[in-house]
Amino acid sequence: MGTDQEFEAEIDRLAALQEFDRTLKERVDRVDVLSAAADECEAKLNKRRETVGQLTAQREALEKQRKEMDQRLEVDGGRMRDNRMRMSRVKTDRELMAIQREIDLGKEAKAHLEEEMLVVMETLERIAVQLLEEGAVLAELEEKAAVQIVAPRSEASELSEGLDDAKARREELASAIDRGLRGKYEQIFRVRGGTAVVEARSGVCTGCRMSLPPQLFNELQRYREVRQCPSCHRIIFFRQQLDESA
Ligand SMILES: [Zn+2]
Repeated sequence: MGTDQEFEAEIDRLAALQEFDRTLKERVDRVDVLSAAADECEAKLNKRRETVGQLTAQREALEKQRKEMDQRLEVDGGRMRDNRMRMSRVKTDRELMAIQREIDLGKEAKAHLEEEMLVVMETLERIAVQLLEEGAVLAELEEKAAVQIVAPRSEASELSEGLDDAKARREELASAIDRGLRGKYEQIFRVRGGTAVVEARSGVCTGCRMSLPPQLFNELQRYREVRQCPSCHRIIFFRQQLDESA
C-alpha cells in the first residue's frame, strides 16, 4: 500500500535526520568543550600574568623608594657632618644650642628614615619570594599553553570549519519532513539530548525500555502512524519487518 510506503519513507527521513543531528550535536558540543577548556586555561594564565605584573610593578616602586631613601640618608648625613664641623666654630651659646637642636632633629629624622627603610627592605624580600613562586607557576602555565590553549583552539576551529555547510544540509533534510512532526521531533531532541525517534519493538519503547499500553501498540501496528511514548514522550513508530525478525 502506498500509504505504508510513504510512512516508511517518512520514518526513514526522520531517522536519517536524527542521525545527522546527533553527529552535528556531537561536533558542536565538542567545539564548546574545547573552547571552554581553552578559555579556562587562558583565564588562569592571564590571572597569573596579572599577578606577576602587579608584583613586578610593586617591586619597581619599592626599589625606587629605597633609592630615594638612600639619597636622602646621604644628603642628611652630609648635613650632619656640616653641623658637627660648625659646632667647633660657634661663638655663642645661642648658636651652639641652635646647631645642637638641628643635630638632634637630624638624628631623629635618620632613625625614622632607617625604620621606614627596614620596612621597605622587608617588603622587597617578601615580594622577591612571591615573585619566585608566582613566576615558576606562570612559567609552567606558559609552557603548557601550547597543549592546553593553542591545540584545543585549533581543533575547535578545524571542527567549526564547514559547520555552516553541515547546518544547511541539515535544514535540507529537515525540510523534507512534515512540519508538525519535525517541530515535535526537534523539541524532543533538545529535551532528550539526541534521541527523539525510537522504535516500538515487541510492545516496548526502545527509548526508555518501558512497556507500552497494549492498545497503543496495537494502534501503532494497525494505523502505521507516529505516536509518542507515554513514559518518555519520544516519538515512537512500528516497523513490520524488524518486529518480525526480533
Ligand atoms: Zn519511551
